[in-house]
Amino acid sequence: MTSIFLRALLVSILAVAGSLLVAVTVVPMMGGTVDGNAWLMCIVCPLATAFPASAYTFWQSDRLKQAHRELARAHAQLAATHRALAEKASRDDMTGMLNRESFFAALDGSRRRSDRGALLIIDADHFKKINDNFGHLTGDDALLEIAAAISRGVRSGDILGRIGGEEFGAFLIGATEAEAAVVAERIRGEVEKVCFQPAGEQQVPLTVSIGGTVCALGATVSELMRAADRRLYEAKNRGRNLAIVAGLLSAA
Ligand code: GH3
Ligand code: MG
Ligand code: MG
Repeated sequence: MTSIFLRALLVSILAVAGSLLVAVTVVPMMGGTVDGNAWLMCIVCPLATAFPASAYTFWQSDRLKQAHRELARAHAQLAATHRALAEKASRDDMTGMLNRESFFAALDGSRRRSDRGALLIIDADHFKKINDNFGHLTGDDALLEIAAAISRGVRSGDILGRIGGEEFGAFLIGATEAEAAVVAERIRGEVEKVCFQPAGEQQVPLTVSIGGTVCALGATVSELMRAADRRLYEAKNRGRNLAIVAGLLSAA
């Protein structure tokens, strides 16, 4: 408020000065004389008009600047909320991993940058039995333990997602077949190491079967999924708690 008053005062003083300058230069040139009344008018008129007009203009301009600042703040808040919501929508509520849709979107994005990598499909073994024997809530706890073990098994930067009920996907960026086999085996081992003991019960073994394939140039995501699924099926058939990784074109 003080600053508006001071700025309006400055404008008024300039207006008075301008008015006086016109009076002392133009009036004599036109053959007139600047008398007391003229001096008074040269001071009062600019003061009466310039002060309120400039004070109002400065007040409005300050309000506009304030509104702009508030708008920018609201915009930043909205953008942050939008980012948080988008992040939340891309995650599986239970495990915090990417959900199926976001996992495949991230996989696509990674393959657009570089086609090298390997896809693993990790499926919990005999999970239905855990639910049947101990209830769904205990099943959820077991699923969380499995998800945590899988996270410990992958390398940082790899893409992890929950792509089905008790099924997870891992895209190992840049991995060769040999590297993917090592990671798959590490994941299998991490899950096997989990000591899962529901309240009042004996320890329940948790295991996963893993099927994996390496990217071939131009292979579609469906082709990769089909190939990894074939390995998973094979791992299940060979007794479970097993990781099988092979190139896309190897025989099923
Ligand atoms: P397999 O070794 O052949 O994979 O046997 P499985 O029992 O794991 O496979 P199946 O497909 O027969 O059963 C999967 C079970 O996983 C059934 C389903 O209720 C359970 N499941 C899926 N999602 C969840 C979940 O979020 N929480 C719990 N508790 N169970 C889940
Ligand atoms: Mg299963
Ligand atoms: Mg399954």
